Amino acid sequence: MFILRKNEKYIKLFINTCMRQLKYSYRIYPNKEQEAKLNQFCGAQRFIWNHFLCLEMEQYKLDGTFRFSHKNITSLPKMKNMENLLWLKDIPSTSLQQTLLYLDKALKHSFRKTSSKKGFPKFKKKKYYQGSFSLAMVNDKMIIGSHIKLPKIGKVKIKLHRKLPSDFKSCQVKQKANKWFIVFTVKVNKHKTVNKIQKVIGLDFNSKDIVVNSNDCSTTNPKFFVKSKQRIKKLNRQLSKKQKGSNNYKKQSLKLAQNHVHVANQRKDFLDKLSYDIVSNNDLICLEDLNIKPMQSFNGRMVQDAGWSMLRSMIEYKADLYGKHVSVINQYFPSTKLCSACGTIVNKSLRQRQHNCNCGLCISRDLNAAINIKNEGIKVFINNKVGTTLIYACGDTKGDDKTPSPVSMNQEAHVALANG
Ligand SMILES: [Zn+2]
Repeated sequence: MFILRKNEKYIKLFINTCMRQLKYSYRIYPNKEQEAKLNQFCGAQRFIWNHFLCLEMEQYKLDGTFRFSHKNITSLPKMKNMENLLWLKDIPSTSLQQTLLYLDKALKHSFRKTSSKKGFPKFKKKKYYQGSFSLAMVNDKMIIGSHIKLPKIGKVKIKLHRKLPSDFKSCQVKQKANKWFIVFTVKVNKHKTVNKIQKVIGLDFNSKDIVVNSNDCSTTNPKFFVKSKQRIKKLNRQLSKKQKGSNNYKKQSLKLAQNHVHVANQRKDFLDKLSYDIVSNNDLICLEDLNIKPMQSFNGRMVQDAGWSMLRSMIEYKADLYGKHVSVINQYFPSTKLCSACGTIVNKSLRQRQHNCNCGLCISRDLNAAINIKNEGIKVFINNKVGTTLIYACGDTKGDDKTPSPVSMNQEAHVALANG
């Protein structure tokens, strides 16, 4: 039994190293009757989450422990037979169970120090035109032609705009404004890892330009939210004047939700293209480990609008998928202060956008930071990975056959370091 479990662990590890989880999203077109049912399912998911979160909190107050999913799931059938909860019988049982598993995860994450999702789980609020529920134990047999068979609902029209891999076990049905989507969690084979690194890039994030890379190319922050801020503000003001629950309130919430979805879609599309461009054109990507929270309190919406953390996670997962490398440097590394040519520390205020050093280097502050991040990233990468050859670190610099700039001199030093 133990050996079998150990093997299972290795098989899982093997799958994780050569496969990657991706999400495939498709639009579905439910009719009015089906839409009402979908809304009911979302409501049930919210009810189950809030009900069991309340129970967990009470239990914790009593003896400092949690009930966790096993105890909760076994109490579901009893709940369904209670007089005031008979409506739960109309909800797919895998959806309810899945909600409890997510609650489990959220509770466990809140106590983990290294978790990215910090904080105790919150109660879910009712929001119009926003909702989701998950389904487990699904397979590709549920798709029949241009329709998808959902439990307790039946056939719903789906637009399969791209081929769906058959290897999926769970999915999530989501509402975004007045549109419904189904998102499948699919396992995809990773590309072969690139062993010969030819192109290296260093990226510096700042609020004015979303990314400045070490080739002196910058991508300006399109500020999607700032552009539609006035419209969203106006819609929010109008919503506050409507009576909650009235038809006008619902109509207004739809308008607001549509605007938010539009901004989110714009940002996601932009970052997806940018991250794909960065990953496909480079073999090693050097980034700075940024602490976004304090920057947000300082620079507010600008930071949020730039979507740095979203861009970073996109770069990381795409690099993993396409066999490229990411090197993350310490957040306390003085990338802005350090001179990329001579290595002295040059103090500057936030307003100073130019880097002027006594050695004669005079470049933009962000470009200097990007070059520093690249150089440090290469060092970190070499220390961590043995067996990967760095062929020509400055292969991506423009005009590298001209007089050697301080930058390429630095890079040559690193190539020597790689060979030695
Ligand atoms: Zn200098």
